[in-house]
Amino acid sequence: MAEHAKLSPSAADRWMSCPGSVYLIDVKNITSKGGEAANRGTAIHTLSEKALKGNVACAGFLGTKLENIKITQEMVDIAQVYVDYVSALSGDKFYEQRVTVAELISDCWGTSDAIVCEVGKLTVGDLKSGSGFRVEATDNKQLLIYALGAYFKYDWLYDFKEITMVIIQPPLDNISTWTITRDELMLFKEQLLEARRRIDEHKDLFVITPKGCQWCPAKFACPEHRHTANQAAQVDFKTKAPDDLSYWLEKLPILKGFISSVEETAYEKLVAGAVIDGFALGKAAKRRAWADEDEVCNFVDSIGLTKTFFKDVLISPAQVDKLTLNLSVREQLNKFITFTESKQPIVKKDSAKSDFK
Ligand code: SF4
Repeated sequence: MAEHAKLSPSAADRWMSCPGSVYLIDVKNITSKGGEAANRGTAIHTLSEKALKGNVACAGFLGTKLENIKITQEMVDIAQVYVDYVSALSGDKFYEQRVTVAELISDCWGTSDAIVCEVGKLTVGDLKSGSGFRVEATDNKQLLIYALGAYFKYDWLYDFKEITMVIIQPPLDNISTWTITRDELMLFKEQLLEARRRIDEHKDLFVITPKGCQWCPAKFACPEHRHTANQAAQVDFKTKAPDDLSYWLEKLPILKGFISSVEETAYEKLVAGAVIDGFALGKAAKRRAWADEDEVCNFVDSIGLTKTFFKDVLISPAQVDKLTLNLSVREQLNKFITFTESKQPIVKKDSAKSDFK
């Protein structure tokens, strides 16, 4: 099993804002789950590292198994974007380096995907292979910790003045960069020390923040979330005036997060064999899927049934947008498009205004 830091850089948004979470996670012995997406991410990282270190194309690993996962074309494409980006940087390059800020906070270390050093300039690159959320480099605490760790490790050799942090997130075509000075990095060092002090002195302080709570594995047991849920349970929403509803719409993310966390935690515990009073796992619905589509294609080809197994389907208007077509064809196609509108979402007034613009 992979080793994890208690104060991991990837969870810094949580533990830097909410000291109580550190103790809650400890007391409840909560471990963050890996899951399929995380395993896939690890395989893509391994693929990129091998390509960079071996100076070879990612395509050479197509169909092979890395970290027990078969490398697909999509994974190759993601890794290659990152490899191309890092390869184009000039400087001394260090891949998958363990970096630590343990001299400020014990048990805070991580593995930085790419550290690129030149005299006066440090670049820290981080590959994000997921498409669920767009990750920005600006104010990214995980990258700041990697940058600080890299600074401690290599500054004696390169005398860094400027530090650039880069997120490379190929599935969303996102290359996000943020450059700061050495003084600004030292300011972050002070913030880390302040976070350490809060963790030492405020074990009972729970602070809800969108970024900090988003991935908090202790949400189901969080006193602040429980308090809000208890409050909500006592309200008769049908009799609420619009102003009260506005209060509760603000609280929706907290309530939704709490409910999901209770469900997910209960599920994991039941799967692990725990007993939960009055509840058990029901029967799972089974869906069939090809384990390996390439192998199926080869098989049906070998028995002459390729045509039977493939059918032509009309592409969608969204897929048409990606085609290179002349304007007149596009205009003619527009006549065939109809629109259905989904239910209007409730949005905050500011975003409603910008939508209108
Ligand atoms: S969910 Fe609760 S414990 Fe976790 S970070 Fe948010 S406030 Fe802190």
